[in-house]
Amino acid sequence: MTIIRLCFLSFFVCTLLLGCKSGEEPAETAADQIDLIVKGSHIVTMDAAGTVIENGAVAIDEGVILAVGDAADIDATYSAVEVLDGGKRVVMPGLVNGHSHAAMTLLRGVADDLALMDWLQNYIFPAEVEFVDPEFVRIGTELACWEMIRGGTTTFVDMYYYPDTISKVVDSCGMRALISATVIDQRSPDAENADDSIAKGNGFIERWQGKNSRITPIFGPHANYTLNLEQLQATRAAAMKYGVPISIHVSESPFELQYAQDTYGMTSIEAYESIGFFDGPTIAAHVVWPTDKEIPILVDRKVGVIHNPTSNMKIASGIAPIAEMLEAGVRIGLGTDGAASNNDLDMWEEMRLASLLQKVDRMDPEVLPASTVLGMATIGGATAIGLGDKVGSLEIGKRADLIQVAFEDVHHVPTFDVISHLVFVSDEQDVASVVVDGKVLMKEREMLTIDTERVSSEATALASRIQAALQARNQKN
Ligand SMILES: [Zn+2]
Repeated sequence: MTIIRLCFLSFFVCTLLLGCKSGEEPAETAADQIDLIVKGSHIVTMDAAGTVIENGAVAIDEGVILAVGDAADIDATYSAVEVLDGGKRVVMPGLVNGHSHAAMTLLRGVADDLALMDWLQNYIFPAEVEFVDPEFVRIGTELACWEMIRGGTTTFVDMYYYPDTISKVVDSCGMRALISATVIDQRSPDAENADDSIAKGNGFIERWQGKNSRITPIFGPHANYTLNLEQLQATRAAAMKYGVPISIHVSESPFELQYAQDTYGMTSIEAYESIGFFDGPTIAAHVVWPTDKEIPILVDRKVGVIHNPTSNMKIASGIAPIAEMLEAGVRIGLGTDGAASNNDLDMWEEMRLASLLQKVDRMDPEVLPASTVLGMATIGGATAIGLGDKVGSLEIGKRADLIQVAFEDVHHVPTFDVISHLVFVSDEQDVASVVVDGKVLMKEREMLTIDTERVSSEATALASRIQAALQARNQKN
């Protein structure tokens, strides 16, 4: 059916563009029934030309965008089973969260105001070994998916334990995700060491590769201070064997730079480059401290960099030179990192902070304008994680991942510039509807694929067990 409809569409476009006259009336085209039409007072397409269509609509069938254009034209061409109305609604691509540890929603607020290594080694790693099991991951990931859908995120890149459990949650909640099997050379919740985590990762990839078009199983080696170069090389070899990308923390903190210098006699990114780590697709989270010599490596090797401004500020990791990297041609997206270092999964906050942080760091209000960070949260992020040809913009043939942002709240009055509002005014509460792969996951703020009360009560119950155990441990010490 889709092919037939695309033919009708081609005919329709051809007629419009070339002024072709055909003997046959395109009556069937007008009656063509499709799955969904999403309307908006503005359609912010995020295509290469930056097209914004006023009083527009997006026509969707079988998960694919069939047409983007004037609402009256779409109405004349298609009738849809479901229509999301668009008065005072801005339609845009769903947000891409390029770096998260979703289940860490259950650890938000458990340890704040600490530097990265103190936070990781003395609080997070021990708490994870003690509390993280498949049930923790199921509840924490579902809680995260609820929060991400509510906030308009449609795709995320995750790195956590029990990736099969994460995948099952993503499968049922309807989001799109790259899900990493975490590789780390220490006892973790789901493995004993690096070799064990690579072996378990192989099994995960084999179980999920090609199973669900929304789920891409990948490897997530933690960092070059929790894995040595041989182990990183072995992880890349495994990823190459299956043809999957890698997600990893790179050049995050001054500790890592010192560690790389002391241990490998090189800067951190040079250490990766020295073993051919970037021979396959790489999603590098943070990249706060790249040197002038390292930035061209990121460009040449097409490394996707994910900027996490809130986490970098909260753990005081530093300020990533995003403006310099963009100027050099690095592919850059945005991420929240885990909720234990953020402490939420709000991509609107990441957009705003990304822009403000660069401006004050460079003492230049012109760097990272709204349109640039909106790109990083959508098509730029999609490109950085290797999905740029599939999602990230509203264009014919792409998968239908899009959101409606309500401009009804008084904080949007007046609106002179929609793009400016999306970055500097909008927040999670403004997201009205969310569509992934053509399926409506949230409609008029009603969550359709997650039972809000159940996940909330399960998370509360699990968190009180964690709190009781932490209190008992503190009393012992
Ligand atoms: Zn992280």
